[in-house]
Amino acid sequence: MQSIYNLDFLEACTFFLEHGGKKFHAEVLLTWLYQKRITNYSEITNIKKELLKELAKNYQIKKLQVVKKEEEEDVAKYLFKLEDGEHIEAVLMRHDYGNSICISSQVGCNMGCRFCESGRRKKVRNLETYEMVLQVMQIEEDIHSRISHVVIMGIGEPFDNYDNVIRFLRIINYPKGMAIGSRHITVSTCGIIPKIEEFMNFPLQVNLAISLHASNDTLRNKLMPINKVYPIKDLIEILKKYSKKTGRRLTFEYILLEGVNDHKENALELASLIKGMNAYVNLIPYNETENIEFNRSKTVQIMKFYDILKKNKIHVTIRKEFGKNISAACGQLRSREEETI
Ligand code: SAH
Repeated sequence: MQSIYNLDFLEACTFFLEHGGKKFHAEVLLTWLYQKRITNYSEITNIKKELLKELAKNYQIKKLQVVKKEEEEDVAKYLFKLEDGEHIEAVLMRHDYGNSICISSQVGCNMGCRFCESGRRKKVRNLETYEMVLQVMQIEEDIHSRISHVVIMGIGEPFDNYDNVIRFLRIINYPKGMAIGSRHITVSTCGIIPKIEEFMNFPLQVNLAISLHASNDTLRNKLMPINKVYPIKDLIEILKKYSKKTGRRLTFEYILLEGVNDHKENALELASLIKGMNAYVNLIPYNETENIEFNRSKTVQIMKFYDILKKNKIHVTIRKEFGKNISAACGQLRSREEETI
């Protein structure tokens, strides 16, 4: 049976209209689900019994199983077991501006980025919408506190699971539900052009981050196979259109890999690529993993790279690191559990 957490507002409206209810029932239902956090339809006091019965016949209200939680000071990693026995992870980060979570969008990933641990296991399947929604909800419930920011930067390529991700965004943003502000939500993609094009027409002001990680095609082809399908020039062109159409600021993520993409020339090349765009670069210190041969750039090199971008009038930040000891860092999700479970 389908999960009730798969339903966005319009789909809930359709359900009620088709079952003799009214549109306003959708708002009522989503408020009970996401604000009052009911675990059984019988707790709903202001929808008729017959309609609740119909709901129960069509949609289950089950949660995911949390099988493990590892915690460090300001970060916690959650391991969830899905109904078919697969595992996914989400990471909670406590910032001074609020609680942020990084969620997964697929079981495994097909993008094959050379530096990324998550891609070592091929995609098994897309996550259903409810499996993304419940990562957010259940962590909120666990910490008894609101999550204000969501990033889709865990395992998987969100634009390879586009429809479910879009529905997920609508559900967590719904004002009478979880009400996570669209400007507090970030989708990160390796650059699937047709989906970026589609995303331009998505009405919510969600942030888009692009995993660039290289300043030219030769290098990017080596690091990220997707670049052979969607090369940098085409990617930048579509992103310029995207910015113009949406007015939203873009983030370029750039992992610094020692001796690979961290040279002065790379910084200059990167600056000229994105000059004039409404964008900023987020430099990511690489999280070294046992299985992959890349090394993190030295701090002085990171600072040099940063300075060159600054001098060239590019907005740039360096990512704060979380959860290194519990393998909660980017690209390291789940693989350790796979060996232990
Ligand atoms: N598929 C999406 C989202 C998941 S990856 C994407 O490509 O954007 C989230 C981010 O973590 C990406 O920028 C990815 O390149 C980065 N990442 C992967 N492995 C990493 C590692 N070991 N250290 C630092 N960042 C990493």
